[in-house]
Amino acid sequence: MNDSMSNDEALEALAERMRTAASVAVITGAGISAESGVPTFRGDGGLWKNYRAEELATPGAFQRDPELVWSWYDWRRGICAKAEPNPAHLVTARLEDRYKDFLLITQNVDGLHGRAGSRRMAEIHGNIWRGRCTACGDVFDTPETPLPEIPVPCPSCGGRARPHIVWFGESYDSDLMEGVYRFLMNVEVLLVIGTSGMVSMPVVLADQARRAGAFVAEVNPNPSELSSLAHAVLRGKAGELLPELERRLGN
Ligand code: NAD
Ligand code: ZN
Repeated sequence: MNDSMSNDEALEALAERMRTAASVAVITGAGISAESGVPTFRGDGGLWKNYRAEELATPGAFQRDPELVWSWYDWRRGICAKAEPNPAHLVTARLEDRYKDFLLITQNVDGLHGRAGSRRMAEIHGNIWRGRCTACGDVFDTPETPLPEIPVPCPSCGGRARPHIVWFGESYDSDLMEGVYRFLMNVEVLLVIGTSGMVSMPVVLADQARRAGAFVAEVNPNPSELSSLAHAVLRGKAGELLPELERRLGN
C-alpha cells in the first residue's frame, strides 16, 4: 500500500495527521544520530578493533573482560562527546511543545536527544553517560571522557560498575516499558525514525500502536522491518526530512 506513495505524498499524509492530532509518539534508533557522526552498529564505521557490537554489548563479555567492554564504551563515548545534535534531534525536541500528549521513545544511548532539548523521553536502552554498580545497584553519572579509570569503580561503595545500558540478552526496565505501552495504547500518530528493527522492540511497539488505531510513519533511507507496518514511508535522511515535516506542520 505504502510503496505506491511518493515521498511527497507520504510527507503530506503524515503532516495532515499531525496537524490535528492531540497525541504523538516518536521512536528513534541509531539512524537519527548517523548524520551527527555517531555510527550505527550495522553501518560503516560501526566496528571497533574488529569486534562486532554483539560481541561486546553482552553480560557475558563484561563478565569475561570488563576492561575490554569499558574500553569500547570509552571509545564510543569519545565519539558521542564530539557529536552535536542534528536538525532531526532538534525538530524532535520542538515537536514536544506542539502536543499535550507526547512521548519520545529512543533506543539511542548517546544523550543527543537530551542535549537537543527533549524532556518527555524514555531512554529504553539506557544512557552511555551513566554507570551502574553491580554490587550496590547505585546509578550515577560518568561525565568524564576519556574515563579516568577502567573498569569504572562505584562512587558509593567502590564495587565494580558497568555501563547503565540494556545489553543484548537482557530485559528492559519493566516500569519504563509499562509507561511506554500505556502511552501507545492511546496515541494517534507514531513516527519511527532510523531504526532497522533488527532489535525487535520498535517493531513490537509499532505493531501495538497500529492495532490500537495509530497512524504509523517511518523515516529511513533504507527498507527496514518497520516498513511493512507503516501507513506512510518517508525514504531519506532524518536530518533532511524532519525539517521538511516541521515546515509543513506550520505554526
Ligand atoms: P541499527 O544500526 O540497527 O539501524 C540503523 C537504521 O538507521 C538503519 O535502518 C539505517 O537504514 C537507518 N539510517 C541510517 N542513516 C540514517 C539517516 N540519516 N536517517 C534516518 N535513518 C538512517 O540501529 P537500531 O535499530 O537503533 O539498533 C541498534 C542498537 O544499537 C540499538 O539498540 C541502540 O541502542 C544501539 N546503538 C545506539 C547508538 C546511539 O546511541 N547513537 C549507535 C549505535 C547503536
Ligand atoms: Zn556500589
